[in-house]
Amino acid sequence: MNPRRSTDLIVIHCAATPPSMDIGREEIGQWHIRRGFRAVGYHWIIRRDGRLEPGRPENVQGAHAVEVNARSIGICLVGGVAERDRRTPESNFTAPQWAALENLVAGILARYPGCRVLGHRDIPGVRKDCPCFDAREWAERQGFPAARDGLPT
Ligand SMILES: [Zn+2]
Repeated sequence: MNPRRSTDLIVIHCAATPPSMDIGREEIGQWHIRRGFRAVGYHWIIRRDGRLEPGRPENVQGAHAVEVNARSIGICLVGGVAERDRRTPESNFTAPQWAALENLVAGILARYPGCRVLGHRDIPGVRKDCPCFDAREWAERQGFPAARDGLPT
């Protein structure tokens, strides 16, 4: 896997799984390999209990958002759809997940100064609900820089 040349975005995703589904890197990695990726596409996975699991090494290119893989770090929160139909978008992440996300993003910003945060759905041209909450608003509430007005150039 090739190291990334630049890193200026942190993209937040969700697994689009219901709250009862306790999965992590292993299961998501299997989905991604089935889709033809060489390994799990995200750099970090945050399980329902808030445990952080490493995916791809942070310095190599991920496979999580085709438009920005070459310039971003991808994080996946497990959850994001309603239990009843397993498809309706729902911001159902747990308190330990929110805390883990805040810690993780703070750490990435320290390692990659100048990064901006956005959700998968905020990438221009993407028609998805992922990560099922407003990641830029969340970032700004934590005092993190968000990617507003399209992608930074
Ligand atoms: Zn996504």
